[in-house]
Amino acid sequence: SGWWKAVEPAPKDPILGVTEAFLADTDPNKVNVGVGAYRDDQGKPVVLQSVREAERRILGKENMEYLPMGGSVKMVEESIKLAYGENADVLKDKRVAAVQALSGTGACRLFAEFQKRFRPESQIYIPVPTWANHHNIWRDANVPQRTFHYYHPETRGLDFASLMDDVKNAPNGSFFLLHACAHNPTGVDPTEEQWKEISYQFKVKNHYPFFDMAYQGFASGDTDRDAKAIRIFLEDGHQIACAQSFAKNMGLYGQRVGCLSVICDDAKQAVAVKSQLQQIARPMYSNPPVHGALLVYSILSDPDLKALWHKEVKVMADRIIGMREALRGNLENLGSPLSWNHVTDQIGMFCYSGMTPEQVDRLTSEFHIYLTRNGRISMAGVTTGNVEYLANAIHEVTK
Ligand code: PLP
Repeated sequence: SGWWKAVEPAPKDPILGVTEAFLADTDPNKVNVGVGAYRDDQGKPVVLQSVREAERRILGKENMEYLPMGGSVKMVEESIKLAYGENADVLKDKRVAAVQALSGTGACRLFAEFQKRFRPESQIYIPVPTWANHHNIWRDANVPQRTFHYYHPETRGLDFASLMDDVKNAPNGSFFLLHACAHNPTGVDPTEEQWKEISYQFKVKNHYPFFDMAYQGFASGDTDRDAKAIRIFLEDGHQIACAQSFAKNMGLYGQRVGCLSVICDDAKQAVAVKSQLQQIARPMYSNPPVHGALLVYSILSDPDLKALWHKEVKVMADRIIGMREALRGNLENLGSPLSWNHVTDQIGMFCYSGMTPEQVDRLTSEFHIYLTRNGRISMAGVTTGNVEYLANAIHEVTK
């Protein structure tokens, strides 16, 4: 006995803590805008029709065999077409090494391990702020972290000048983590012009762009438009890597289906890189789960199901955009003297409201509204039924 005497409880995950506190609250007006998962206008989780139909088609036909270490080859092919574009040269040239991953998190982790193994002296530049798990992922892969400027608190927009300075001042050949669209937690994305400038400067500096694309389709409702940053970097001839997740855009959160792709010099190198990615996966989890991959493949490979899915992605994105307008409109109607333009300027699942931790505490204690203390509002939790209540509470605590 006594083997684990020294083990202290790990600190609570701030987001999961918010959900726990929300569930324990018995107030009928309680609102959860902490969770990063889509909800419909009734506040309910959604299973997409395209996913239901794919399930119906699969039912009874699926075998339960292991997938290869790199996962479903068919799913991966469809996935990289979605990211890079059907007709991308890198696909024709078979220059993309890609494997199925355990959703976006697993794709990031595989890349971090790959980076450590083959570029052991490298570091990763991470935006401030970012999805908190990025820090954990590269920490556990033993890759030293640096940060670069991203968000500008005063304007609640992009700090483009400082971002570009950091890109210029980083040592040549640095690794950078970029959110492809719908930046989490800020909802602030560079414009197309800004992406072009970033891409240009990356070329000048020979930096390595790693894209985390957890929300393709979720920002604008259009999967091609949301992949614009990636396409710009491709056009400029960068060798990028990309982590894809089907958690948000297909609502497959718990199925853990995603993809990691790494663009290589040629087909031969792609084969080598893929084999090494598989080698990294093998002692961690052997091979990825089969069901979610089959759903994704069924949807992306069937023109009708794919069209239905595109429609459903747009419905989700549009509902969120509509709620942004409603939240801002309500705050302005209440006579708030503050500017709430950022609520509609920001994009994707989150609104980085600019509220202080103390204001957030008041939202929770006085109004039973739950969110993380950084003021991040999950727009997916906002509905026509609670938007007025939410706006009123925000107005009260920011007066
Ligand atoms: N990357 C970002 C920026 C995210 O916001 C998320 C989810 O919140 C993920 C990756 C990964 O999510 P998952 O592992 O569920 O695909």
